[in-house]
Amino acid sequence: MEFEPVIGLEVHSQLKTQTKIFCGCSTAFGAAPNTQTCPVCLGMPGVLPVLNRTVVDFTLRMALATGCTISRESRFARKNYFYPDLPKGYQISQYELPIAEHGGIDIEAEGRPRRVRIRRIHMEEDAGKLTHDPHRPVSRVDLNRTGVPLIEIVSEPDIDSAAAAGAYLRQLRSIVRYLGICDGNLEEGSFRCDANVSIRPKGSSGLGTRTELKNLNSFRFVEKAIEHEIYRQKDVLMDGGAIVQETRLWDPGRGLTFSMRGKEEAHDYRYFPDPDLLPLVIDEEWIERVQRSLPELPDARRARFIEQYGLPDYDAGVLTSDRELADYFEACLKAFPQSKLVSNWIMGPLLGLLNAAGIPIDQAPISAGGLAGLLKLVDSGAISVKTAKNVFDEMAASGKTAAAIVAEKGLSQISDMDAIEAVVQDVLDRNSKEVEAYRGGKTKLMGFFVGEVMKATRGQANPKAVNELLRHKLKR
Ligand SMILES: [Zn+2]
Repeated sequence: MEFEPVIGLEVHSQLKTQTKIFCGCSTAFGAAPNTQTCPVCLGMPGVLPVLNRTVVDFTLRMALATGCTISRESRFARKNYFYPDLPKGYQISQYELPIAEHGGIDIEAEGRPRRVRIRRIHMEEDAGKLTHDPHRPVSRVDLNRTGVPLIEIVSEPDIDSAAAAGAYLRQLRSIVRYLGICDGNLEEGSFRCDANVSIRPKGSSGLGTRTELKNLNSFRFVEKAIEHEIYRQKDVLMDGGAIVQETRLWDPGRGLTFSMRGKEEAHDYRYFPDPDLLPLVIDEEWIERVQRSLPELPDARRARFIEQYGLPDYDAGVLTSDRELADYFEACLKAFPQSKLVSNWIMGPLLGLLNAAGIPIDQAPISAGGLAGLLKLVDSGAISVKTAKNVFDEMAASGKTAAAIVAEKGLSQISDMDAIEAVVQDVLDRNSKEVEAYRGGKTKLMGFFVGEVMKATRGQANPKAVNELLRHKLKR
């Protein structure tokens, strides 16, 4: 029997606000444990939460960017459960009336475009963080993260492969980063994903029992865990077994998922409207103001790069996947307006360098202006492409400009015809036998003469000039 996977993703995106969602505590990452707390986020009796307006602004940005319908009136609800990192005994979230619903984004995976619908986006607060001592039976709690604002983006189960799940997540991450509402860092946990995975007989319309996968803190893990889970479920069903609804953790070391606990249902949480918070009312004017503040989004920018700069679809996709990278490209282009050449140098040497060093584009050791300076030297014939690659590495290592490095090391390509002619004449004089042979018809020897001239000039002679001079002198 053939099966098809049905996958839905729940993404928690941490909003980059200065303060927490219901109090004035800082959200800065890396502070000493429990130094960014107050009676509100510690859940002391008698305190009242006050909603941070910027959280709503950021959530509206995401909702509008993904084509969601905005609820004119939404509510906060208490999600009740006990855990040591949750001092109040409940998390403030949204349940029955989320702020936004019914959106979607377009993705491309396995060579075909498709749309993944977004069921809902809602706001909630984060819980604290527990660390377990590996050597002693001791756990510590840090409540700095308690009350940090999150949005949860819940997709419809429109995803049918691990690759499509990866593409959806990358696109979503690209959008939150373009919007400037989240840094999208999977490793540090500011962009988290849980995957609901089930399989069903191919062509059927019902849904199989699903499992929820957690601990997916890289795009690669998301794809691998889903792939493994599809395979595991097929195996269970083919053996005549049944899938158990549960939460499973991805173990990257062993490359498999294992059961963590039975899956809770919504009714386990006893949701009810939070009596401390008024319904959130959003008027037309608020929505319009946010709409006007939206930046150009990845899909639109990609289309513009193709249209305006004549870039191939692939280049435009890579360059606009990240807002800073697209900005870098356009800044470089301002100083050196040859789009394909700039694109090649960014996608090749520059991204190669950044990937190898594991640093983001906004920390690139060569600025957009610096790269443009290098390309100008190549374009004017002052240095060869081969020399330029070396200068590029040197720029990255030393932080110097291309012009400074070329001057310092005497790398300028020799374009002075008199100088080159002297070398060419010398090469011909020293190789009279080859000159005879060439004139006798062995024209393949041209490569040999060019090589000798380049050797004599340490590769700095302008190849075009060398070829012209040799051809001229070898005529008779
Ligand atoms: Zn606080």
